Amino acid sequence: MERENKYEAVIGLETHVELSTVTKMFCGCRLSFGEEKNKFTCPVCLGHPGSLPVTNWKAVEYAIKIALALNCKVNKYTIFHRKNYFYPDMAKNYQISQYDIPLSSSGYLDVDMGNYTRRVGITRVHMEEDTGKLVHTGVTGRISESKATIVDYNRSGTPLIEIVTEPDIRSPEEAREYLIALRNLILFLDVSDCSMEEGSMRCDANVSVREKNSSKIGTKTEIKNLNSFKFLQKGLEYEIKRQIKVVESGDKVIQQTRHYDSKTGTTKAMRSKEEAQDYRYFPEPDLVPICLEDETIETIRKTIPELPLAKARRFKERYGLSAEDSRFLANNMEIADYFEECCRYYDNPKNIANWIMGDFSALLNKEKIAIKESKITPCNMCKMLEMVDKGKISSRMAKSVFEEMFTTGKGPEKIITERGLEQVSDESILESIIDEVIKENPGPVEQFREGKEKAMSFLIGQVMAKTKGKANPQLANKIIRKKIV
Ligand code: ADP
Ligand code: ZN
Ligand code: MG
Repeated sequence: MERENKYEAVIGLETHVELSTVTKMFCGCRLSFGEEKNKFTCPVCLGHPGSLPVTNWKAVEYAIKIALALNCKVNKYTIFHRKNYFYPDMAKNYQISQYDIPLSSSGYLDVDMGNYTRRVGITRVHMEEDTGKLVHTGVTGRISESKATIVDYNRSGTPLIEIVTEPDIRSPEEAREYLIALRNLILFLDVSDCSMEEGSMRCDANVSVREKNSSKIGTKTEIKNLNSFKFLQKGLEYEIKRQIKVVESGDKVIQQTRHYDSKTGTTKAMRSKEEAQDYRYFPEPDLVPICLEDETIETIRKTIPELPLAKARRFKERYGLSAEDSRFLANNMEIADYFEECCRYYDNPKNIANWIMGDFSALLNKEKIAIKESKITPCNMCKMLEMVDKGKISSRMAKSVFEEMFTTGKGPEKIITERGLEQVSDESILESIIDEVIKENPGPVEQFREGKEKAMSFLIGQVMAKTKGKANPQLANKIIRKKIV
């Protein structure tokens, strides 16, 4: 630990996000996932010589939306470049990407770390196209256990956005939180489904180490295959330790690309890093430059909704919630909207928040569904909370009523009547039951008079037993006290 405290990590992330447009970046083929292989292809995305690409304006619009949400400066003149390299998943032998005149640059994303905020500079947000996908035949799908590899070009030409950060990230936790915040933000913009599992959001991590407070920057390695938030954090943790060992032993870190192996939690050298000049970038001659009017950019800016950080701040102020609760609710647009709709029906935001974050989230997670898909309407949820407040049902019963609402979509009144659950809050009924309990339990009554508070729980328990759990416990408590003190 001593040794590791001497150093700090310097991290920069490169994230690729597939846009959820209807068609591909430079042709009219539909985007698809998990469908029959090579079904959605044409001469353009198969790279046939002589075919001509045409830019998908919707993709440009989505890219601008992301750039603006990341506080970037959008360049009014931007062009595409060819990035030349050979790989079987890329039919043209070059990828249409952007180089020295990207769509946008110089932004930032503020990442809430709980007790501090890390501002991560965004170097650039640019547009490119995705490659096809290599499918290794055989049961395991692993290259080493496969006899042949086929290429599926359905993904070829999918609009892709690359988001590059400055080396501003200082720990694996910050890297993870950055990526979570970036994903939430893009989901709010409704321009990608950002699934790390399905590969529509992918992240490579660049990392180096240096002595704390040093102004020099060390040699970096780039880690690939980090396809979950957890792997991103774990991969970086391992790599930072490895680099510190190298430096401590007097060696030099070699600039290279390393592959993260989630089975062993380690990184292995893949290849030495290629340099930009290896790609022989040159302007794409088949595409016209994109020229943007201020007005166009402003129109797109207006389509950006309130973003997670701003929403969390507003929730905290307007509803008096804690910072943590506000963040939880504001990080997901559907949950945030659900919460606010409830607040229109029922005036106890804290109570609503507690139910959403507690029982409701647990049920949603168990069923693996989104709040929008749940059968509980905000209105029914609020009716139930009011019934608890008014003493019609106990908070314990509320839990099971809520579960039934969740599975059946019935309103709370209906469930309570059907199950005969209505809490007994009628004083005259409770009084006669309590009279019986007092008569039958002289010992505990005496103990309570002598100051044993525990005896009260026993007496309330008896009242509960007689009413099959339907007595309002606070009221029972009050009546018993009145009668025996
Ligand atoms: P390359 O030319 O290797 O692609 P770039 O300068 O384009 O490198 O940077 C790629 C990513 O690596 C960026 O996110 C950047 O912030 C990060 N990065 C650059 N240098 C370092 C370094 N020494 N340590 C950690 N991250 C770095
Ligand atoms: Zn096509
Ligand atoms: Mg680079």
